[in-house]
Amino acid sequence: MRKLLLCMAVLGSQWLYAQKTIIYCGKLVDPKNLQVLSEMSVVVEGNKIAGVEKGYISATGADKVIDLKKLTVMPGLIDCHVHLEDEISPNDFEKHFKLNPADHAYLAMGNADSTLLAGFTTVRDLGGSGVNISLRNAINKGLVPGPRVFTAGKALGSTGGHGDPTNGLREDLMGDPGPSVGVVNGVDECIKAVRMRYKEGVDVIKVMSTGGVLSLEKDGTGAQLNDDELKALVATAKDYGLKVAAHAHGAEGIKRAIRAGVASIEHGTYMDDEAIQLFKERGTYFVPTITAGKSVADSAKKPGFFPAVIAGKAQAVGPLIQNTFAKAYKAGVKIAFGTDAGVYKHGKNWMEFVYMNEAGMPPLETIKSATVSAADLIGISDKVGTIETGKLADIIAVDGDPVADIHAMGKVSFVMKNGVVYKGGK
Ligand SMILES: [Zn+2]
Repeated sequence: MRKLLLCMAVLGSQWLYAQKTIIYCGKLVDPKNLQVLSEMSVVVEGNKIAGVEKGYISATGADKVIDLKKLTVMPGLIDCHVHLEDEISPNDFEKHFKLNPADHAYLAMGNADSTLLAGFTTVRDLGGSGVNISLRNAINKGLVPGPRVFTAGKALGSTGGHGDPTNGLREDLMGDPGPSVGVVNGVDECIKAVRMRYKEGVDVIKVMSTGGVLSLEKDGTGAQLNDDELKALVATAKDYGLKVAAHAHGAEGIKRAIRAGVASIEHGTYMDDEAIQLFKERGTYFVPTITAGKSVADSAKKPGFFPAVIAGKAQAVGPLIQNTFAKAYKAGVKIAFGTDAGVYKHGKNWMEFVYMNEAGMPPLETIKSATVSAADLIGISDKVGTIETGKLADIIAVDGDPVADIHAMGKVSFVMKNGVVYKGGK
């Protein structure tokens, strides 16, 4: 009888607690403390991490074991700047006239899959047609594979500025777009646009505080929103619990956005010493996107890839970002990993690790920027970014030792997101 009761108790606990998975980690990166541990076991129960223990603990009963003894295990990576619904190609502007939202949605599905398989279990999707709100929901429901998505929906910018979807068109096609498509002028429209994005279900607000490289406008760097507009936008976003990410190349637009209280500056190409000081005073994150800069500069060299107005800007602005990153890192600016994937091929996000390392950031700090710091910027540090008991089971592994050779970040051979294995682990 006692034996039977014991059996029932064991059976009961198996019903109560999902089957355990024990992951044996040859090396385990702890980005928070910038250290690598050897021969560790991570215990996963359901979608959460249930324990992290020294040595290879023994499995019992129905426990499943995943042997990653030859690999380097780390928290799932986070890219704070992607555009999942698109990928750059020659004559990109034709897409404007040919693709329906459903076409973008299918493209986004494929790009989400490549991103996840490259080890990126969470992304911030900073601007597009808005279809990625539905993609996020579909991924969360388990209908399609992909990273955890925090999307901005349609980005906000001023008339004729970066983000105005009718730039470069014939007058009768140009019209006068407004907040519904992200074009804002004046405080009232800034407030309305943020509220519209909130209603549509975004997770973050993206604003273009300066000109941009890949838009059909002459100026890629000047400020394009005034202080009052930016402040109204950030204050309204705050009311709804939304952080603001600001695209900014020129120093004036960077400073206005930081003073207005944005959470991050994207690209930051021409930041000067005063801007660096402001970053540090306000604790604003810098999201470098070095990969995008290098990649558009390369594409611009191919005849006909971009219209002339873009090719010129891409060659002037692109190559500068890596030096800006080196300067900002040295000065102690907070850095969160972001690549602008979509401006180059999705799934190659890991190249950013190589470029950051080339510019002077040690490998473990680059991994910290894509885990601990990125989670902090998005506001999800309680859920992801480290492999610790109670966090979501976002765990990846690479073949090789990224501390010895950062290119190992491109050899992702195991991906678990939310406790589900998407790659490797057989
Ligand atoms: Zn972007």
